[in-house]
Parts: sequence; structure tokens; C-alpha cells
Amino acid sequence: MGDHRNNILDKYAAPVCYQVRLGMRRYGMAYTFDVIVIGSGFGGAITSCRLSEKNQRVLVLERGRRWKPTEFPRAPGDPWIYDHNQPQLLNGWVDFRFFERMIVAQGAGVGGGSLIYANISKEPPKSVFDSGWPPEITRASLQPYYDTVGKMLQVQPLPDNQLSPHFQFFRDAATAAGYQDRFFKPPLAISFDPNYSYDRPNPTSNKYTVVHKNPQGVEQGTCVQCGNCDIGCQVLAKNTLDLNYIPLGEQHGLEVRHLHVVTRIEPYDQGYRVSYDRLENGERIPGDETARIVIVAGGTVNTNELMLRCRDEYKTLPKISQTLGDGFSANGDFISASFEQPQTVDPTVGPTITAALDFFDGSVNGQRFFIEDGGSPNWGRDMCRKFLVEAAKAGRGGEVIKELKKLASEPNDAFPHAALWFAVGMDAADGQFYLGRKLFWPWERKLRLKWNPETAKPLANAEYGIQQQMATVTGGKPIPQILWVDFMTLVTAHPLGGCHMGSDPSHGVVDHTGQVFGYKNLYIADGSIVPTSVGFNPSRTIGALAERIADLMPV
Ligand SMILES: Cc1cc2nc3c(=O)[nH]c(=O)nc-3n(C[C@H](O)[C@H](O)[C@H](O)COP(=O)(O)OP(=O)(O)OC[C@H]3O[C@@H](n4cnc5c(N)ncnc54)[C@H](O)[C@@H]3O)c2cc1C
Ligand code: SF4
Repeated sequence: MGDHRNNILDKYAAPVCYQVRLGMRRYGMAYTFDVIVIGSGFGGAITSCRLSEKNQRVLVLERGRRWKPTEFPRAPGDPWIYDHNQPQLLNGWVDFRFFERMIVAQGAGVGGGSLIYANISKEPPKSVFDSGWPPEITRASLQPYYDTVGKMLQVQPLPDNQLSPHFQFFRDAATAAGYQDRFFKPPLAISFDPNYSYDRPNPTSNKYTVVHKNPQGVEQGTCVQCGNCDIGCQVLAKNTLDLNYIPLGEQHGLEVRHLHVVTRIEPYDQGYRVSYDRLENGERIPGDETARIVIVAGGTVNTNELMLRCRDEYKTLPKISQTLGDGFSANGDFISASFEQPQTVDPTVGPTITAALDFFDGSVNGQRFFIEDGGSPNWGRDMCRKFLVEAAKAGRGGEVIKELKKLASEPNDAFPHAALWFAVGMDAADGQFYLGRKLFWPWERKLRLKWNPETAKPLANAEYGIQQQMATVTGGKPIPQILWVDFMTLVTAHPLGGCHMGSDPSHGVVDHTGQVFGYKNLYIADGSIVPTSVGFNPSRTIGALAERIADLMPV
């Protein structure tokens, strides 16, 4: 019945609305919306929700799908990858961007990075705001907004009666290394059932989830400790943005169009025209809408690319600050692993990240960072096992693969004894995005990133050193982090900067309210406006800045 209704709406109502909007344009009503928001992650979902609450007609254009839990990718042939070069063909779950010596992972879909993230939602240390920020932005001035985001996402630490094996291993490793005073449980945006117990048969079964309605009236479940956080929570225990801010906005008239890739922004009347490609049946169908206010919130990489193209390629926004692209930070991300831990670690059970160690005091070579425990979905384990078995059968990889296969096979399954170690910290934030020429197609321009691995070395080595120490004191074998050690390449899930806040156009792209210098009513509200690393996982800070931008916006 629902589908039938949607079909009728698609067939008849949508074209009528389009004609009405065209008519409005022709007969003097300048804009089709009050506000257009590009992207629906932390910046986009929060600003669009709050402006809808302020009675603005708000449209969100999101390049990814609106995912249902039954559609989350699980098997090898599923839609895992979002390809920004041909999104009409590949518009899956995660978008990897490969730059010189830097790999960036980002979410794609209604809810943005919240769909894929590890649910850590925490304010960074106060000292993060000591330099690099406009004077208006301090930890104290942001605190009310941090609190609002925490309340909306219902954050809480992992309950004491639900400590996963990898949490317990990490806590014991901290004690063994003498770091027990640095240990803490960060807040998580997850709904937990206080009565959940690991002592039940098959404790990670979906049947133990408790279905309830959240404060926005949306049905969610509670956590069953299945470890799938990064590939989508099938019981909806993660408090993702598509379950709170976006439905709240929709209750106030917000319109969300998924599979709409924004391609260009240009001035129109006193506002802006936003051009997009609608992705349908493997095709890109062009369209556009206009609004008095536009908020760009495509995530750090995509926002930098869109703004650079508008300034340098299409020349539709030529006055954007010359500092555009500067100040990229990987937020000090560093991941490593160890094998043959004598303890049961089982990274595939329990929420992905649940515990951390605070090294923000600079006591390790003057570097400021946090070490976190790491989990991985079962899917990773199954795929890895399949790959190793197939490679060993085909005789690929020689002795190494044979040994790894033995480790991965029952009954010597190595995965419960493997540990993942994560880190986040204050890096130099000295990368630069720019549009370069393609080697064989010099008439086309490609987003590139220039950064200096040498300035990243002291932090990365300090983080890696502690991770290796913790693996060793617990009797495990650290696996060499080849990407970094041999290729000086980092992987980040927390890209920041490039459209950073500043006090004037010679020091930033946007002011402290998120408004682009030189362009009234054009705002940026995502990770790209953050002018330094934040040292901890950044989504809560991006969310707090978005709350502030919407709060201060004169509408
Ligand atoms: C695997 C993983 C785990 C993570 N875990 C954590 C964690 O535990 N805690 C934490 O704080 N952070 C975590 N992060 C980082 C966090 O997800 C990001 O910092 C956060 O989502 C950034 O918010 P944003 O608003 O800048 O952009 P996003 O949340 O990335 O949202 C941008 C949105 O814009 C859309 N978009 C992009 N370009 C266009 C376009 N041209 N047209 C239309 N739509 C567009 C994208 O599809 C996306 O939905 C994790 C990230 C990853 C990848
Ligand atoms: S551990 Fe499983 S149930 Fe819990 S939040 Fe993560 S994906 Fe959802």
C-alpha cells in the first residue's frame, strides 16, 4: 500500500510541485526554498533540522541513498563502495578517496558519517581551542551546543554490565602498561538495554534487542553487542542522524532528496542556484533549485572539492578566500594491530570503540593524543578468512599466506586473539587541497592533497610506540604497520579543515558563524571549517559548531 502511494506521488504530485515551483520563479517569487543544505551528515542534518524548526522551507540534497537496515551491505557483491567519479553506477556505503600518501574514508547516505561511525561522541580537551580558532569560539562558548548534541544523540558510556572482551582486554593492557590512571570510557551514541547480559546463549543475536520509540517518535532497538557498528546497525541501536535530527526536521517540513549529487553553486538574485545530478537507473539527470541561503555540508573532502571547483574551475564563486584548501588535518589518526594475544580479545564482539587512554598531557615526546581500543565487524573476519583460504589454495603469497591461513582456520582461529589499536591526536594540520591537472587528460582537474609526512612523524611514531608497548606487555605480537613504516601513508576517518574558520579572509574561508567571506548567506557547516585537529574523534565538535551556526543564523 505504502509503495503504491509513493508511486502515485512520484508520478503525479512531484511533477505538479515542480511546475508550481517553476511558476513561482517566473512570477516573482525568487527562490524555490528558503535554505538549501548540501549533505546530511553532522553539519547538514543538524543545521537543516534547526532551520526547519525556525519555520524555514529547507531542502537537503544528499548524494547517497536513504538506507534501510535490511539494505545495509553485508555480502561481497553488496553496494559497499561509493565512487565519486561514477556515482550513478556505484552509490554504496563508504567512499574512499586516495591521495598521495593519504587515504580518507567517509560515509555516504542520509545521515552521513553517523551511519558508518563508531559512535564515539565526546568534547575534546579545552586546550584544543587555545590557538588557531577565531576568538569567539572557545570551549566555554561551545559548551551549550556540545550539551545539546549529546542530549539529541543520547550519549552514554558502555554500561558496566556489558563490558565486551576487547574492552576488558584493553583495560587490563592499560593496567599492565602502568597507564590505568589514563583509562576512561568515552560517551557513545548508542541505545543500551540496562538488562542486557552476555551470559545468555548466543548473546549477540538480534532477538535480544528491545524495540522502543526514541524522543523523536522513531522506532529503534537496543544494542546486542554484535560489533557491526561500522557497517550499519541492523537493530537500529546506533543513534544515527537519520533517526533523530532528520526526522525532527521532517516533522517541521524539511524535504530530504537522496541520490542528488550537488555539482555547482552560483549566485542567483540575492541568493544562490544549486545545480545537481539526480542518480536514477544508472543515469545522471541534471536539475537545480534556488534559495536565499545555502549551507554546504558535504564533509571535508567533498566540500573542499566543490568550493575549489566553484572558485577555480567554474569561476562562479571567484571571491572565495585564497586560503581555501589550506589547513587539512587527518586528526592524528593511526591504526595498528597485534596477533597472538594470549587473552581472548575478540574484536568482533561489542561496539567498535568503547575505551580510551588519555595522553593529552604531552608526556610522550611532547605529543598530545588518545589511544583507543578497536573492534571490527564479523564481516571483516569472514572476508579475511575467505581471502586467505583462496589465496593458499591458489598457491598465491607463498609461505606467509600459508601461515596466515593456518592462523585463520578452526580450531586455531587467530581472530579472537588479534587486537586492533586506534589513535587520534593533535597533528600539524598542514595539508593543502588543490585542483591539479590529470596526467593524460590535462584539460580535466582533479582534487589533490599535498601534505608533509615528516611533520606527521613525531605524533604517528608516539602513537604507534604506545600501541606496540601495550601489545607487547600483554604478550602479543605487534604486526608491522607497513603502510606507515614502508610507505609513509596514513589512513584517516576524521578529515578536517581546508575551509577553516578565521577572523578575516586572509586567515580563513568562513567567519566564526560559518558564513563564507565575500558571500552573504553562503555558509559552510561541516568538518572542513575546523581550523585545527581536535585531538579526539571530531563528530561532537562538528555537531556543536553546526548547532551554533544554525542558532546564530539571522533568519
Ligand atoms: C569508519 C568510520 C568511523 C568513524 N567513527 C567516528 C567516531 O566514533 N566518532 C567520531 O566523532 N567520528 C567518527 N568518524 C568520523 C565522522 O564520521 C566524521 O567526522 C563526521 O561524519 C563528519 O561530519 P560532516 O558533517 O563533516 O560530514 P559527513 O558526516 O561525512 O556528511 C557529509 C554528507 O554529505 C554528502 N555529500 C558529499 N558531497 C555531496 C554532494 N556533492 N552533494 C550532495 N551530498 C553530498 C555525503 O554523502 C555525506 O552524507 C568515523 C568515520 C568513519 C569513516
Ligand atoms: S554493537 Fe551491534 S547492536 Fe550494538 S550498536 Fe554496534 S551494530 Fe548496533
